[in-house]
Amino acid sequence: MSDASSSTGQPGDGARARGGLSGAGAPGEGTRAVRAGLPEPVKYEPTLPGPVFAAHFHLPGEPTGPYTYGRDENPTWSRLEQAIGELEAPDADGVETLVFASGMAAISSVLFSQLRAGDAVVLPSDGYQALPLARAQLEAYGIEVRTAPTGGDAQLDVLDGARLLWIETPSNPGLDVCDVRRLVKAAHARGALVAVDNTLATPLGQRPLDLGADFSVASGTKQLTGHGDILLGYVVGRDAEAMAAVRRWRKIVGAIPGPMEAWLAHRSIATLQLRVDRQNATALAVAEALRDWPEELAVRYPGLPGDPSHEVAAQQMRRFGCVVSFALPSRERADRFLDALRLVDDATSFGGVRSTAERRGRWGGDAVPEGFIRLSVGAEDPEDLVADVRRALEESAR
Ligand SMILES: *Cc1c(COP(=O)(O)O)cnc(C)c1O
Repeated sequence: MSDASSSTGQPGDGARARGGLSGAGAPGEGTRAVRAGLPEPVKYEPTLPGPVFAAHFHLPGEPTGPYTYGRDENPTWSRLEQAIGELEAPDADGVETLVFASGMAAISSVLFSQLRAGDAVVLPSDGYQALPLARAQLEAYGIEVRTAPTGGDAQLDVLDGARLLWIETPSNPGLDVCDVRRLVKAAHARGALVAVDNTLATPLGQRPLDLGADFSVASGTKQLTGHGDILLGYVVGRDAEAMAAVRRWRKIVGAIPGPMEAWLAHRSIATLQLRVDRQNATALAVAEALRDWPEELAVRYPGLPGDPSHEVAAQQMRRFGCVVSFALPSRERADRFLDALRLVDDATSFGGVRSTAERRGRWGGDAVPEGFIRLSVGAEDPEDLVADVRRALEESAR
């Protein structure tokens, strides 16, 4: 929690050095976000140079990098990778970041580059809904897949002999949390690598590498970019050999982001702290309103004191996310509630500046009740949003 003070928005001194941010006095996270990955200023050049659209680059003679062919590297990705690395691991040396076409591309790149036939991997039993698809593919390649729920650190019981522990904390959509430091210690003692899906927290909420993890992997589609208009993924890791394998996997599969998406993502990161602080504060207000509602709604939010996740979350997170979940008594009631909302779109995904909600059970696959709602809190005025949720609860009860 080296950065706890900056979550209150205290500005740093703005000292600029390599990568724009270090030197005397650590900059605050807002400062870091607006400057992350910017190149040194060049007269008459824009602050954030535009997207570089290139399938190939001029390359006379020996084909040495950095920029040769558009599936391998691109200057727009390089700047975005620098930016994400500065947020995920500002204090670590030798950390490498790779961007991908989507969160699943990033996740697959770690799973399939690090595991071989005969290896065992531990996956969450309650994680992102595409993980079971990855599981089936891993098993088809002769990899043993074990699962454990996110909450309660039950992963400890299935770690022996595993090559990789995959955790998703907070988990989507259940919002359970596991103790990353504790699990990393146990995994490393058994020779296993640890990857943390950091999608829900964002690097401003949690820094898995600081907690000891080997990889922080995330979907940038959600709150990192926050406008619901691009897909993106990334992997940050500190082990050069492991990251070389991830890079090789990206090249083999070609799961690369377009330069336009990469540039939009970088532009969006400048407002990350503003969005996250606003959305997460409103999420807490919405969670409190749901908790105080006369019906029992089984509300979950890791930032809510008394939530089963709160104690562990508070040890390892600096911000608790923009997703709140709760359960209405039936599918019909949940559908009426979603219909009655005026400021919240009925849509999947989360993290955007416009609030969304959905009845999660409509997809199948997640172990949630029929009336379970995942609500992603946007950047609307908190009073408006809380009032809209209260009114929809009331109207849908009739
Ligand atoms: C959305 C999501 C993913 C997948 O990301 P895409 O960008 O949709 O591929 C992975 N993990 C979590 C926790 C997610 O919420």
